[in-house]
Amino acid sequence: MTERLERNLQHRRQVLRALLWITVIAGIIFALININRGVYLLAALELIYATFAACLLRIVGSTRHLGRWTIVFLLPFFCIMEVALLLPQSSFTVFTWIQTIPIISYLLLGKRGGFWMSLVFISLGVVAFNVRYVTDDSLLNLAVIANVGFSSLAVMLFSHIYERSRDDNERRLIELAGTDSLTGLANRMRLGETFRNLRGQADRSNTALSLVVLDLDHFKQVNDRYGHEVGDSVLQRTAEALRSRLRDSDLACRLGGEEFALLLPGASLEQAAGLADELRMRLEQTPIDAGRDTITVTFSAGVACLGEDGDSLSELLKTADRRMYEAKGGGRNQVVAAGQQYALSKPESILDKCSE
Ligand code: GH3
Ligand code: MG
Ligand code: MG
Repeated sequence: MTERLERNLQHRRQVLRALLWITVIAGIIFALININRGVYLLAALELIYATFAACLLRIVGSTRHLGRWTIVFLLPFFCIMEVALLLPQSSFTVFTWIQTIPIISYLLLGKRGGFWMSLVFISLGVVAFNVRYVTDDSLLNLAVIANVGFSSLAVMLFSHIYERSRDDNERRLIELAGTDSLTGLANRMRLGETFRNLRGQADRSNTALSLVVLDLDHFKQVNDRYGHEVGDSVLQRTAEALRSRLRDSDLACRLGGEEFALLLPGASLEQAAGLADELRMRLEQTPIDAGRDTITVTFSAGVACLGEDGDSLSELLKTADRRMYEAKGGGRNQVVAAGQQYALSKPESILDKCSE
């Protein structure tokens, strides 16, 4: 999510920078034109604003408060457009700028900010236009209001639809990029992102964070005997079993092949090992249907805890992985945490347990 926010900020930074350059150039050109026309108030506003935009160009490249600076820039920018529309010396073509309000607002502020900014300033623009260009012909007035109102509404609606579908597509892509397609669990990428968030929370609240790495025992035999499709469905059922026991704040992840990881915020090494062992027993006691046979799945797991076993995900993965191999070496179907073995069962291969 944080990466998503950063990407979004980067995209908005570029849009704002482009807008600032346009403001500097257009501000100077319009100020020169208005000085020649004797419209000094507007020329002064345009010059001041071009200078302000030039100063902001230096800030927006690096600021961490892009949202605030965007509003600081946009509010006077749109106000100047409205004032320009009201000034008797200015041309009605100023209204074409009003119609850029929704596009700029949605691109820079997203759905919610874009909606409110557009609604307020488009409404003010339509009122200003009608104050300025009202005629004696009431039907013509109505036609003008309808033209200006509906064209503005159309631009706002299209901008809203565009921003909403862009945002939805971005969310979907990010979700897909972080999901394992076979099991629907998180993948390594999401594990890394979630670990960074949970480590921050654990540091702030001084709570535990544990990682379990588990690998199915003798899984190759399932593939060899029943075929890859059954192997896939065993992986899916295992994922369901893991997911169903975990809390919403925990994360189950498929690291690859028949290897999974569990990230457990608030769980000490012992608690995580206890949970992993409960999962191990639950899986062992729930055979998976494979047509004529049922397959009993077991796993070997290693547990590591933030702090005592390392501070980074790679350190924790390394330790948990080493302990998982200790569990394999110790006879499989067991959990190892800091050299301690949990609930060692009789070592058996999956196929030994298949009911014929
Ligand atoms: P161990 O108890 O030592 O872990 O033995 P194992 O047989 O589980 O481990 P091994 O590493 O020898 O074999 C893993 C097998 O997992 C080999 C590969 O065919 C299978 N596998 C990996 N990814 C998938 C997958 O996506 N679907 C299926 N069906 N099988 C997979
Ligand atoms: Mg295995
Ligand atoms: Mg493996």
